[in-house]
Amino acid sequence: MKFWLLGACALAMSAQAMALTPWQQITKPVPGAAQALGGFANGCIVGANPLPLQADDYQVMRPDQHRYYGHPDLLAFINRLSSEVSQRQMGTLLIGDMAMPAGGRFSSGHASHQSGLDVDIWLQLPKQRWSQQQLLKPKPIDLVAVNGRNVIPALWSDDTGELIKLAAKDDDVTRIFVNPAIKQKLCDTAGADRDWLRKVRPWFAHRAHMHVRLRCPASSLECQDQTPPPAGDGCGAELASWFQPPPPGSKPSKPSAPPPLYPSCQALLDRHFAG
Ligand SMILES: [Zn+2]
Repeated sequence: MKFWLLGACALAMSAQAMALTPWQQITKPVPGAAQALGGFANGCIVGANPLPLQADDYQVMRPDQHRYYGHPDLLAFINRLSSEVSQRQMGTLLIGDMAMPAGGRFSSGHASHQSGLDVDIWLQLPKQRWSQQQLLKPKPIDLVAVNGRNVIPALWSDDTGELIKLAAKDDDVTRIFVNPAIKQKLCDTAGADRDWLRKVRPWFAHRAHMHVRLRCPASSLECQDQTPPPAGDGCGAELASWFQPPPPGSKPSKPSAPPPLYPSCQALLDRHFAG
């Protein structure tokens, strides 16, 4: 009896955890001129393009997840970066999650990646192309030491830093999220050329990949940009604060319920499921 109850309960919980958002049930881009709508963490996209899965300079991981859609500006950025990396013989760029065909919220894993302007790019650059099997079950390389304060020297190479720098120097890129230990390594090794560090922001996780975010395209009138990062290279007190223990008595904040959908995205869902 007990076992049965336990089993039923576990089943109910996993069904809830796996519940798909309506966005995950949209299998094709919404037709129309490309428009990123709303914010990065509460938005959607009309007229998204799929990133071509066959390309000389990059490979797309977990293609079975269908998260390789984005605004044409995002596809153009991936092409620019991957061809630069390839010309420098640094290896093959590994592309992780972009957005779903109409963008929107995932049931798990991401709060952002909703408006077709975010992409996860892994920090390892294989010299040999991966097999389909490797792409379907990619193995991340955690670059951050267990203490959380520094990168693992044996896993870090000059090319790792160069890859992040190349992405940050792209005019369309506004922010790149990496683990604080990775930002620290970049701060320590950047030398005199440091302006690009402003765009590289410390964030939780992001130990094996960087999350690259583009500015709102000029033609996407309903796209909500973030305020630019504060002036400076971000290598001082702000970065140091990530390595401090939490103040005594502070409690981890509870995850809050997602906000109401951006109105044009709600309208898009209503139209899609009405027809
Ligand atoms: Zn991401």
